Amino acid sequence: MANSVRVRFAPSPTGPLHIGGVRTALYNYLYARKHRGQFVLRIEDTDQKRSVDGAEEYIQSCLAWLGIQPDESPTQPGSFGPYRQSERRNLYQKHILELVDRGLAYYAFDTAESLEHHRKDHEKRGKTFTYNWHNRMKLSNSLILGKEKTKEKLDSGHPYVVRFLMWEEGEPSLFTCSDIIRGSVSVDCKLLDDKILYKSDGMPTYHFANVVDDHLMEISQVIRGEEWLPSLALHLKLYDAFGWTPPEFAHLPLILKPGGKGKLSKRDGDKMGFPVFPIKWKGEIMGFKEEGYLPEAVLNFLALLGWNDGGENEIFLLKELISLFDLERVHHAGARFDPEKNKWFNQQHIQRLSLSDFSSLCKAVIENHGFVVNDEKKLKSIGIMIQPRVVLTTELWRELKVFFEGPKDYDENALQKVWKEKTLGLLHAVAEMLSRSEEMTLEELKDGLKGVAEDAGLGLGVLMGPLRIVIVGSLSGPDLISLLNALGAKEVIRRIDFALKAIK
Ligand code: GLU
Repeated sequence: MANSVRVRFAPSPTGPLHIGGVRTALYNYLYARKHRGQFVLRIEDTDQKRSVDGAEEYIQSCLAWLGIQPDESPTQPGSFGPYRQSERRNLYQKHILELVDRGLAYYAFDTAESLEHHRKDHEKRGKTFTYNWHNRMKLSNSLILGKEKTKEKLDSGHPYVVRFLMWEEGEPSLFTCSDIIRGSVSVDCKLLDDKILYKSDGMPTYHFANVVDDHLMEISQVIRGEEWLPSLALHLKLYDAFGWTPPEFAHLPLILKPGGKGKLSKRDGDKMGFPVFPIKWKGEIMGFKEEGYLPEAVLNFLALLGWNDGGENEIFLLKELISLFDLERVHHAGARFDPEKNKWFNQQHIQRLSLSDFSSLCKAVIENHGFVVNDEKKLKSIGIMIQPRVVLTTELWRELKVFFEGPKDYDENALQKVWKEKTLGLLHAVAEMLSRSEEMTLEELKDGLKGVAEDAGLGLGVLMGPLRIVIVGSLSGPDLISLLNALGAKEVIRRIDFALKAIK
């Protein structure tokens, strides 16, 4: 379909997918969905030496966990495949021959040593060696050797590279590149080198494969990280050389370290103690998933790393992001990664879960700890109590535990603070009161406890501290009366009896 939106996420499978890559994937996804287009996953594995086992599967699992799955990918091919560059070699070969035949690229036979020699020699003279119009006629390539000698070299299996003829004297040297986010940038082509596009091992370089594939896959917008901005002129020149209409380009701002200086790196998470990967990598490095983040929270804070909708609201679900997202509102300046704020986003999304979704999360955690709750009503009543207390899902058991296990030890400091002379008698009286009554409502329970305190000439407050320690083990936990109610009289009495024996 002409003019339809097709965007792609094109990672190289060199290791786990860093959060910056995930943001690129997300922005592509949002753009595709907003414009009812296609979101393509293309694996850029031409540099086989850097490919890492398991990295491609990892990328797919991350996208699946986040719910931003591609419409076309190596495992779900559409009509533009293959979707791994290593499986597209014949296409690159055909296209490189076309450029060479048309005199827009040339074979170069310079050895690594001779290039090193030129580099050093220039350095000595305070200059930088650039393989381009300046000196290409003094080096070893098909432009000087001529057709026949070149053919001889190629036939004899001499190693070569194919270089792009970036600029020649007589052509205008200023070239204008435009970017949706950054506007127009002028580049002086005289300063650029004749980039290597292809090598004699039959593999294209990133630049060549990337441009050929974006064209053949009919990509309409290239949305990628700012680190590729310096390659834009080369890429556009390649489109020109083939006579192809280029896609539009949008280069996303860098994601910066929490301190705001420098690019967030894969190692920063480990060094500073926060996740930078979506899910765990090879059982070694934990991701946001294992650290207790909901995918919707991760999508939310990633979306806001470099974009906002112009309003005050910061909490968005994926479908809202799809309708609001706009490349024109992507910022130029780097976006600071803020681990504390990320936790806040997670908390907000946990609070927004429906009670039934939150209860299902709890159910799974409870079962993982070897307990069962089949009573949906009870599960929900527990859910209501703890939902406001959770920031990360890894904290769920800390909050749930009290409903399933009584404390085995008691916070000494808290005991010292709240344990008074009359406490023992009060707790006995509570057990007494509970053993006398049938099931109680929250109100009846509260009145019963008040009654116990009043009989001893005290206020309810004096009773609540020790009672909480006896039930929970410390002064923390959810609303005590609701907790007592959820536990039921029998269990409360059991915990009181146990505590009164254990606390001396
Ligand atoms: N393979 C490149 C990367 O991993 C893709 C860059 C692009 O999107 O053009 O960053």
